[in-house]
Amino acid sequence: MLKGEKNLQLLDHPRRIVITTHHKPDGDALGSSLGLYHWLKKHGHDVEVVVSSDFPTFLDWMPGREDVLIYPQQPEKCQTLFERADILFCLDYSALSRANILEEIIAQANGQKWMIDHHLDPEDFADLSYWDAKAAATAQLVYTFIADIMQDAGSINADIATCLYAGIMTDTGSFRFRSTTSAVHHIIASLIDAGARNWEIHEHVYNSSTEKRLKFLGYCLLNCLEVIPDYNTALFAISKEDLAQFEVTTGDTEGLVNYALSIKGIRLAALIVDRTELIKLSLRSIGEIPCNEICKKYFNGGGHLNASGGSSSEDLSTVVNKLKSVLPEYKELLTK
Ligand code: 5GP
Ligand code: MN
Repeated sequence: MLKGEKNLQLLDHPRRIVITTHHKPDGDALGSSLGLYHWLKKHGHDVEVVVSSDFPTFLDWMPGREDVLIYPQQPEKCQTLFERADILFCLDYSALSRANILEEIIAQANGQKWMIDHHLDPEDFADLSYWDAKAAATAQLVYTFIADIMQDAGSINADIATCLYAGIMTDTGSFRFRSTTSAVHHIIASLIDAGARNWEIHEHVYNSSTEKRLKFLGYCLLNCLEVIPDYNTALFAISKEDLAQFEVTTGDTEGLVNYALSIKGIRLAALIVDRTELIKLSLRSIGEIPCNEICKKYFNGGGHLNASGGSSSEDLSTVVNKLKSVLPEYKELLTK
């Protein structure tokens, strides 16, 4: 759905543009932001990508990542960019709170807010919104924004294609999830034609672990995994001591939750991590089990039906017990 279409004419002239995405950017957040960044720059706009935090090392190869401004590292410069921007893009989030420390700055900025996103229940803050909860990734929506809405598929070069490919690849679990329609595969084919080197992108993202990270994975599988057979649920609970022991950095826990879901018969998987400032929770499910509802009702979060996140300021064991206490409510869906 596209709302605020008349504002598109702003792009007829060079503009000052800031692209933002959600806190702790994942592959889709960074891929969609940098894909759009390269396209807008190609059309003569003055563009910056500003993020609220650093991003995982497995994304530290994307074309343009060295241009990304990390707000806490240069707050004054970023502040000025926000103040003078004609357009602020909000990519891969549709609740302003997901921008974390940037929330207020975005809300107060005078420039138009353009949201491109695929999360459920978007807030109504944007002057232009291009939103589709069925889209596999925001990077897919950036592709259709460029190709269909702006009728400019011809300008998609290798850099744009590489970033968008990475966004779609990571948000579909490498083209495995239910969201991976034939339309997604057609877009992927176009991106490869435009210069995305698919094998290289997979290599960068999936074969870039450190030895420590792999040992951390082994440690978690052996020591932190709990299976609850009565509810077809499996969870990892990771303490801050575990994180310290393996010097875990941003992104090192990415994908861990999927190991819990890969156990035969498991329909709900959770990763609960003590990040000191708060407990972060990731939920994944099979079928109709609503991760987003569970995260929204009990863990101050949200997301998609089968992949959601949330947080809590209680301690690790309290959060684990809270999740366990929620399971009976979903027994029918979990055991059918
Ligand atoms: P992850 O578990 O990988 O952090 O996030 C899975 C999905 O849930 C992502 O689509 C993400 O946008 C969403 N999500 C993660 N954490 C939060 C949160 O704290 N609040 C909300 N509303 N959504 C979240
Ligand atoms: Mn996404």
